[in-house]
Order: sequence, then C-alpha cells, then structure tokens
Amino acid sequence: MRVLLEFPGSHHYWDEYEKTDWFCQKCGQKEVWDSLGEGDYYTGTTAYCTNCNSAMSFLGGPSQETHPAYLGLIDQLRSGQTKKPTTGKGQ
Ligand SMILES: [Zn+2]
Repeated sequence: MRVLLEFPGSHHYWDEYEKTDWFCQKCGQKEVWDSLGEGDYYTGTTAYCTNCNSAMSFLGGPSQETHPAYLGLIDQLRSGQTKKPTTGKGQ
C-alpha cells in the first residue's frame, strides 16, 4: 500500500509498502512490511513491524530508526489508510 513519510517542517514523500512473510527480528511475529523501493544503498530497504513498532533492515540488522516519520508510517500500515500531508513540500 501507499504510505506517506512526513518530515514536519521539511518535506514529505510517498512510498509503496507490502506485507511480507518475514518474521520480525524483535517480536517474532509475521507482521513485517517492506518497501518496494530500492532503499538505502548500504542497508537496503527498511522494513517495519506493525506488531511491535520496530524498524529493521534485513541486510543491515535492526535499524536505529527513531525519526517520528516512521511511526506515522506504521500507523498507516496498521490502519490501511494513507495519510494526507499536513506540512512540507512534496517530492
Ligand atoms: Zn515486531
């Protein structure tokens, strides 16, 4: 599904995520969503668990992702609703 990543006061963009068959590295549940994009050059895509709100990279291991934009992303994956941008410039 399409999700909005919003960096308040800065910019936002949309990304496509799909549910995977993967087990979460933290809670072990199969509630992991991964980006269909190319992701980061070094660590690959960042995946998100909607069960325990963890961010992880399957190439780079558990991610230290702490930006609030990713929590908004998990909310969208969980609810199935794409958020509308409130601030910033689209990319
Ligand atoms: Zn989890």
